[in-house]
Amino acid sequence: RLYNEIIELKGNIRVFCRCRPLNSDEISNGSTSVVDFDSCQENELQIMSSDSSKKLFKFDHIFRPESNQEAVFLQTIPIVTSVLDGFNVCIFAYGQTGTGKTFTMEGTPENKGVNYRTLEELFKVSDVRSNFMKYELLVSMLEVYNEKIRDLLVENCNQPTKKLEIKQSAEGTQEVPGLVEARVYNTDEVWELLKSGSRARSVGSTNANELSSRSHCLVRVTVLGENLINGQRTRSHLWLVDLAGSERVGRLEVEGERLKESQFINKSLSALGDVISALASKTTHVPYRNSKLTHMLQSSLGGDCKTLMFVQISPSAADLGETLCSLNFATRVR
Ligand code: ADP
Ligand code: MG
Repeated sequence: RLYNEIIELKGNIRVFCRCRPLNSDEISNGSTSVVDFDSCQENELQIMSSDSSKKLFKFDHIFRPESNQEAVFLQTIPIVTSVLDGFNVCIFAYGQTGTGKTFTMEGTPENKGVNYRTLEELFKVSDVRSNFMKYELLVSMLEVYNEKIRDLLVENCNQPTKKLEIKQSAEGTQEVPGLVEARVYNTDEVWELLKSGSRARSVGSTNANELSSRSHCLVRVTVLGENLINGQRTRSHLWLVDLAGSERVGRLEVEGERLKESQFINKSLSALGDVISALASKTTHVPYRNSKLTHMLQSSLGGDCKTLMFVQISPSAADLGETLCSLNFATRVR
């Protein structure tokens, strides 16, 4: 409760910036970091360009390369747990391919990310509340690739699956009829479930990483709540979204299938930016319908819904251009 009051005071849109460490290749070729955290305020960072000009960015929270998954999740807890109070929530990881979007959301078996930790926390909190609240948790997983929606939890993913569509319900909410909803009872099965969904994400591609960087992967947690004292029931959604890579593709690559893909990615990421910045500036018209992504998330973006965006960046000088693009994007939605 206290957490949520703090969120209320600060508004419903948060932007956290996470900078990954230099990787071994970058270290061995002598790259140095262009991100400076020390000569500015706590929630600020500076990007040092080659012409020694500096650019300052401010966010709700900044995670340095040494921040671990636990530290990241600690800041995320109040937002994810608000789904248990009936709020709809969206969490996005945005950034260039290779900056740690999947690491933050999915993580690795040793360093589990936000998705798993969120379900673990939801189970924990629902246990604590079990004397007055009854919760059911359902997990769905889907992919948006070239503006087509695909279920990642269907039994046999090698079968050509029917395309999913977005439908408006009688209550005016956006639904995806036919989407698999797996009831989860405890954390034991959650990691395997999330893994199977993420394996399905790369089916049909010769290079798993390649394809996953060009599709959006969405985990949806549906929370059905029942207040045991007054009988009130709630249904709310928490979306955990690993977005397609935000990088602009090189001119030489831009032809055929790759051109089509990058146009779809561009369109949906800018649609997302437009929606969140319209919400942040409290504009009356919010252009949800410009992409499948924003249309599907319509009932979970805006109003009293909570939104968190992780803008993921690389510290390397070689990625400076993309880093500035991502930071500018994130500044626009804040
Ligand atoms: P993306 O999904 O944005 O393309 P990944 O999550 O695949 O990026 O990250 C690229 C690589 O960097 C992976 O090997 C990942 O484990 C590693 N990595 C990313 N962020 C971190 C971090 N904060 N700490 C340690 N390793 C990281
Ligand atoms: Mg990824």
